[in-house]
Amino acid sequence: MENSHAIPIMPIENEITERHRIRLRLKREDLIHPDISGNKWWKLKYNIEAAISSKKTCLLTFGGAYSNHLLATAAVGYAKGLKTIGIVRGEKIEPLNPTLDKVSNKYKMRLIFINRTAYREKNVVELLREIGIEEDEVYTIPEGGTNALAIKGCKEILNGIGDDSDFICCSCGTGGTISGLIAGAHKKKFILGFSALKGDFLINDVSQLLKNEHHEHTNNWEIRTDYHFGGYAKFNPDLIDFINQFKDDFNISLDPIYTGKMMYGIFDLIDKGFFPENSTITAIHSGGLQGILGFNQRFGNLLK
Ligand SMILES: *Cc1c(COP(=O)(O)O)cnc(C)c1O
Repeated sequence: MENSHAIPIMPIENEITERHRIRLRLKREDLIHPDISGNKWWKLKYNIEAAISSKKTCLLTFGGAYSNHLLATAAVGYAKGLKTIGIVRGEKIEPLNPTLDKVSNKYKMRLIFINRTAYREKNVVELLREIGIEEDEVYTIPEGGTNALAIKGCKEILNGIGDDSDFICCSCGTGGTISGLIAGAHKKKFILGFSALKGDFLINDVSQLLKNEHHEHTNNWEIRTDYHFGGYAKFNPDLIDFINQFKDDFNISLDPIYTGKMMYGIFDLIDKGFFPENSTITAIHSGGLQGILGFNQRFGNLLK
């Protein structure tokens, strides 16, 4: 799990890639671990090291009710013998959904549900006081896991990709993962992100994250803001059909929140001639497959 070189990179070939003479490959970070998957492991790796070396006994973080980050944090904490606390946005709904059920019952994360207004104004010190946890025991990780140590970890996703990739593609939520890829990649490579959220704020967020890294300004990256399908966790039948067809064709699952939208965008751009002929594209499968169960429960088994 700790060696990104060992992660398989699989060819994805079909009529569209052949017609446009594109070599497309998928780096299977989703195979790292069912619950600590994809980019979330790389975002946590150095944070966990820091928590342990500073003798913290508890990880605290934040997320929505289906959060890949919350589950990954709970699972890593459990494996490393650290307590975990998750502050969940929204009311507690019972029975717990499959994500929170695992987080709470399998990985023993202590969950605190707070409503959306309180979540926005959350005061962690006060929350900790209420539940009787000493502040100096706690290592806090932001929602989505993005901080400087996360960016350091995400640079390691580049391991094994090789020099022949012209484009590296990833899905973007907070922009931490793409920041690591941009900061770590050779300047001759182009890093293309696909925003899972509506709006173009991520372009500024990523510029700021890179500035914090003292990364010199470069033009070898772009974030597409036209493949969000209506916004975070929104979808339409086209996206669902695409993900199911991809599963049939390649026997690889994509999640409907992030990687499905990225892969849809990549094929659409290939078809529109965005990538020059003979380009090699490596897409990052950043995981998130744990969310499919909850998605199917909510929306009626749309995904295979
Ligand atoms: C969290 C997540 C992302 C987004 O990563 P950021 O670093 O927040 O941009 C992409 N894909 C999957 C599967 C994720 O869980």
